Amino acid sequence: MTLRVYNTLTRTKELFEPVKPGKVGIYLCGPTVYKPSHIGHAVGPIIFDAIKRYLAYKDYKVTLVINITDVDDKIIAEAAEQGREMSEIAAEVEADYLKCLETLGVTSVDHFPRATENIDKIIALVQKLIDNGAAYVVGGDVYFDYTASPDYGKLSGRRVEDAMHGSRNLSGENKRHPADFAVWKSAKEGEPGWDSPWGRGRPGWHIECSAMSMDLLGETFDIHGGGMDLIFPHHENEIAQSESATGKTFAKYWLHNGLTRVKTKAAGGSEKMSKSLGNIRTISELLEDFSPETIRAFVLSTHYRRPLEFSDEQLSATAKSLETFYRLFDRIERATGADVYGDGKPIEKLSDQTDGDTDAAFVEEILQHRLRFGEVMDDDFNTAGAIASLHEMAGAINRYIEQTQLETRDNEAAKTLAAGAGVTLVNTGQILGLFMAKPQAKITKADESQIESLIDERNAARKDKNFARADEIRNQLSNMEIEISDVQDHTIWRKK
Ligand SMILES: [Zn+2]
Repeated sequence: MTLRVYNTLTRTKELFEPVKPGKVGIYLCGPTVYKPSHIGHAVGPIIFDAIKRYLAYKDYKVTLVINITDVDDKIIAEAAEQGREMSEIAAEVEADYLKCLETLGVTSVDHFPRATENIDKIIALVQKLIDNGAAYVVGGDVYFDYTASPDYGKLSGRRVEDAMHGSRNLSGENKRHPADFAVWKSAKEGEPGWDSPWGRGRPGWHIECSAMSMDLLGETFDIHGGGMDLIFPHHENEIAQSESATGKTFAKYWLHNGLTRVKTKAAGGSEKMSKSLGNIRTISELLEDFSPETIRAFVLSTHYRRPLEFSDEQLSATAKSLETFYRLFDRIERATGADVYGDGKPIEKLSDQTDGDTDAAFVEEILQHRLRFGEVMDDDFNTAGAIASLHEMAGAINRYIEQTQLETRDNEAAKTLAAGAGVTLVNTGQILGLFMAKPQAKITKADESQIESLIDERNAARKDKNFARADEIRNQLSNMEIEISDVQDHTIWRKK
């Protein structure tokens, strides 16, 4: 299977061919750490964590880097407002960010480089630009000269005249051209700064990403990611300065995820999430209402290039759809005694165990869905399509359990196949970082027999049209955190 990715730089879906065979370097622009992380900060990391897992599954050796911008005008302003040190605020916000990512299962990141720990590399890169005639010094500031980059605008498709209107000129009255941008900013009295050949100062935001990505991944690396709002000017400027410094292609594939929007009840529509609109919820707040797996599955249920619309309704819907998997895993476990999260044999290793047409068709169907999962992931990491394949697989297993009456009849061969299909489903989900662990505590055997006898009693009561008693039992089970649902002619249950 061949992987194709949509490259913002060429505006086409291209065959993915890494710079070095078998290896992939990915750089994703990370947060500026000045305010607690909101969900927009987690979207990119969840997507690229899933992308890394998929590439690793395809046997690539992947290095994933997410930077931490821990020196910036915004953090300096926040520090001044709170009357605290910039480094203190940055450390606090970074700790919250890293904790949130870990909770959300974003555990595949290899490096989180901090700007303040790479000042020497940033200074060296700025010096290289000056030496190449691509940057100039004015007072204590250093600016990149956009005319040094003849193809400036190639990523965003913007012309310099448009670019000028989009660039805010914060510190530089002394730029030669409005499209030039600061790579080093002199420090004002009381501001944090580092000694440099141009005086005390701090790096510009764009140059950090160039310095840290090339340091960790090489001068030319494979994938550069970020939100679509970073295409201009941030990524455009990263390209201009990196390629002017090295004379080489900077990043081969540019992958941009859609913006995060929040559905608000008042407006009835959706709006961009922003501080000024006051519609931001921190990740910690969201995690009070929704499980990490729900948030992760929600993000991956939309193709990464499309806008993501957050709302409680959408998250609740995702939680419900995950329940269908959890119910199935419990069902398989009860019917077969196998733990699908364990290291049982997946169905692809059990095709010699089929007994008749039903079994053979079942194995074939599961393998087809598994194949489909790979096909859609190979099509520009279509995680939404991949999750749809997981649902198809789950549906097939539920149907097979019905067909073989696995819950009431002894059928060892069918039990083995159902358990194997469950293992395959869990394994496949894990490629996206889903189903990494059982969502709830195990129920003891004693609980189980009590629950089952209550269900039998309830069904008997229903048969006798004693609905009051049936409801009483349902409430009793509910108090035990047991949820029941009637499927065709029998009742299935699971722990809430
Ligand atoms: Zn960046």
